[in-house]
Amino acid sequence: MTNRKELIETGWNLENSYACLPKIFFRSIKPTPVTSPKLIIFNNSLATSLGLNVQAMQSKDSLEVLAGNQIPKGALPIAQAYAGHQFQHFTMLGDGRAMLLGEQITPLGQRVDIQLKGSGETPYSRGGDGRATLGAMLREYIISEAMYGLGIATTRSLAVVTSGESVIRETDLSGAILTRVAASHLRVGTFQYASEWGTVEDLRGLADYTLKRHFPDIDSGENRYLFLLQEVIKGQAALIAKWQLGGFIHGVMNTDNMTISGETIDYGPCAFMDAYDPTTVFSSIDIKGRYAYGNQPHIAGWNLARFAETLLPLLHANKSEAIKLAQDAISGFTELYHYNWLAGMRSKLGIFNEELQDESIIETLLSMMKKYSADYTNTFRALTFDKPEDTVLFGTLEFGQWHEMWQARLSRQQEPKSSSNQLMRNSNPAIIPRNHRVEAALEAAEKQGDYSVMYQLLDVLASPYAHSSEQTDYSTLPEVSTHPYQTFCGT
Ligand code: AMP
Ligand code: MG
Repeated sequence: MTNRKELIETGWNLENSYACLPKIFFRSIKPTPVTSPKLIIFNNSLATSLGLNVQAMQSKDSLEVLAGNQIPKGALPIAQAYAGHQFQHFTMLGDGRAMLLGEQITPLGQRVDIQLKGSGETPYSRGGDGRATLGAMLREYIISEAMYGLGIATTRSLAVVTSGESVIRETDLSGAILTRVAASHLRVGTFQYASEWGTVEDLRGLADYTLKRHFPDIDSGENRYLFLLQEVIKGQAALIAKWQLGGFIHGVMNTDNMTISGETIDYGPCAFMDAYDPTTVFSSIDIKGRYAYGNQPHIAGWNLARFAETLLPLLHANKSEAIKLAQDAISGFTELYHYNWLAGMRSKLGIFNEELQDESIIETLLSMMKKYSADYTNTFRALTFDKPEDTVLFGTLEFGQWHEMWQARLSRQQEPKSSSNQLMRNSNPAIIPRNHRVEAALEAAEKQGDYSVMYQLLDVLASPYAHSSEQTDYSTLPEVSTHPYQTFCGT
């Protein structure tokens, strides 16, 4: 047991509201201790916002907590049950290598999950070792923190510790544990699990818990469960629009990887697109391109339809009425998504007001970017500073004509050029976690134990809209390769 004084100083303030749900939703577990934990990276600013004492968190006892060797006061470790459609195939899943320590109540009164990922076997491990590799956990740390910097809703990363043990994948790799912070770990898959294996009362308990935790501002006269469905649809429409606007490809949009809170979760084979192309896929297992960049909004709609199906018994006592309510809500997703996307694209082009032809201006630009394989991020950055780059796109006559049309459009709004420019600076990042930069950081960390490359990368990724000179280097594109970049689920 951890020394009491230490715990008070550390600032853990844990509650366990999820564990009050019916027993089918979780199993109490004990993490499997690891031999010699070592702290690799710790997120000071996140820790402070959680109410943790940064200095006390550097102690040996705190390290033992981050490694799963000790349980902090107030924690009640559990593995959560959930199901999911993985590449359309429905299956039982659950936390196979993660455990929820509890919910930290922050100084601002927010409730966030504290989860250890890679903490050992659980009743849901299905033969897996319950462990995670250093490379995969650092990758999640880098990309989730980059997403946060970009202003895209996401789970956060508090720390990564190595276990001192190796895990066997294709070769022996260093084992590691990530401390993940999330608004909650409720997923579409949690509702699918309740719907498939629970009673209607279990499902209602889960829905009521979710409403209380995430969407408490409900009018008393409203259909509570329809409201839940609509709010989740709204959150996902906003999230997926941000993914598209940022060029982010999740890679495994299975229903177990879609949160109810609207945060991006589970950074497996995700990556940012370089050249604009809606068919871009990075994941080695996504053979048919189901989760390709351009398909993400459609897949989100598909996943939300699965979510709506789980709520049918709660939506209305009459099944066909329930189906109608669900269908109406789901059909609103496409429009909501499109509204968010169009608003975001207008901002990327410095447009404040709305004109009918805006969409055609945007689509024309995107189709030229596709035609000339223009880099997505750098093209918008160049437009922001109205500094054409030395690329094929900018040299074409087509682009010249488009540019004139765009400038004419900007002159048809009240706001001065300087406001447009500020809007563009705030909407178009100078840098994204470029795949080759992430790989270089991971390689230095894994092969040489040199974490400096990663620290520097994280530093510039923290403020992607700064457009500072030290970011210039990080926006260079990778050398043209004959092998397309591929990401692996190998975790
Ligand atoms: P993910 O690909 O991380 O979304 O995981 C999908 C499912 O596989 C979840 O139920 C995980 O808990 C489980 N899983 C992934 N890796 C392991 C592992 N090494 N041991 C046990 N379960 C795992
Ligand atoms: Mg997952």
